[in-house]
Amino acid sequence: MPLALHGGTPVRTEPLPTSLDSSGRILGRAEQEAVERVIASGVLWRVTGTEVAALETEFAALLGTAHAVASTSGTSALHLAVAAVNPEPGDEVIVPPVTDFGTVIAVLACNAVPVFADVDPVTGCLTPESVAAKITSRTRAVIAVHLFGGPAPIGELVELCRPRGITVIEDCAQAYLTVPHGGTGYAGTRGDIGCFSLQQTKHITAGDGGLTVTDDPELARRMRLFADKGWPRDTGERTHLFLGLNYRMTELVGAVARVQLTRLGEIVAARRAVAARLTKELDGLAGLRLPSPEEISRHSFWLYPILLDPELVGTDNADFGAALLAEGIPASAGYLDRPVYLTPAMAERRTYGISGFPIDGRHYAKGDCPVAEDMIERTLVVLQCNERYSDQDVDDIITAVRRVHAHFAHFAHLAG
Ligand SMILES: *Cc1c(COP(=O)(O)O)cnc(C)c1O
Repeated sequence: MPLALHGGTPVRTEPLPTSLDSSGRILGRAEQEAVERVIASGVLWRVTGTEVAALETEFAALLGTAHAVASTSGTSALHLAVAAVNPEPGDEVIVPPVTDFGTVIAVLACNAVPVFADVDPVTGCLTPESVAAKITSRTRAVIAVHLFGGPAPIGELVELCRPRGITVIEDCAQAYLTVPHGGTGYAGTRGDIGCFSLQQTKHITAGDGGLTVTDDPELARRMRLFADKGWPRDTGERTHLFLGLNYRMTELVGAVARVQLTRLGEIVAARRAVAARLTKELDGLAGLRLPSPEEISRHSFWLYPILLDPELVGTDNADFGAALLAEGIPASAGYLDRPVYLTPAMAERRTYGISGFPIDGRHYAKGDCPVAEDMIERTLVVLQCNERYSDQDVDDIITAVRRVHAHFAHFAHLAG
């Protein structure tokens, strides 16, 4: 069967369920009723409302943390975290280069310097070794991203950072109910602060929204004040204790998020089941590395990552991903077009006016994180994963991956 890329019939012409619309979201009557309840109450902001406060209580209880603070996005959730650390301008925060720009925005918006450490070639997450090599006297925090829902080595990072007074922030925007190695508890509860997103494409959504969790009452209070103009409403004073923003989540968002939270367990379980079938059926294709059953039990599958060995597969991730897309299977080669440090915002220091502050004098350049670059340019392919995939949907993905693999492996064999 010729590839769709070469004029063959695509495996799939009907679009797969997607998180971009109702086909791949679980949003029902309960969410509609939640919105109606808020509208009928006439209280649409959190200051005199009950929904966002209840969401914070319920999310903290679900994760087993002492505090949760709601905000307007995953990016703001991260901004709350870095702001709570309160770095001096020019202090450094270590981040991975394979992530959403939101991770880095939080650092720049605090006038701190993002320092990129390289990643593990399988997980795409920071390694303790690469982080250790980047620590300086100005390092104030590390933001570990649990990429695609797979766990970063958070225990080892905490061991490295805590004795040095460096705060560990977990970016869990892709990682609800992810289970890191060692110890107990979900991602977001192992470091000092955990940050989550309710944006349209995440496991659960209210359009946009953010949640930041911590066990530390002082960090929690700083975050709460930072999201509300530095205004200590709990004391009754009309004053501003420090520079904050208005990142208040609305009651409409809070009410929807509360319902979504009740669906989270079912959503993550469904995604793990999809991943388990993909791994079972695709296992053994030469040159493809898939999440193992042990990894699947810890992962929450925002995306399903495949690593390919270009020599064995006969092509790199770009061709493999393009061939899958042509078969009607949503896939991305490399996840990003380039590591975050090579985006114009970073490489050309487009920050505040033409000052380049706070990264003036820093040079972000190709070669900074070779493992991350190799993943993006050669080895990583990510498949969409969705809780609404039917057995037939998963069958089609399996058929397409096998067809594309067979095609390239055949020609690699002839050439070899
Ligand atoms: C989505 C995402 C963010 C940002 O969240 P928004 O809600 O889109 O602002 C940050 N980090 C990671 C890893 C993400 O996937």
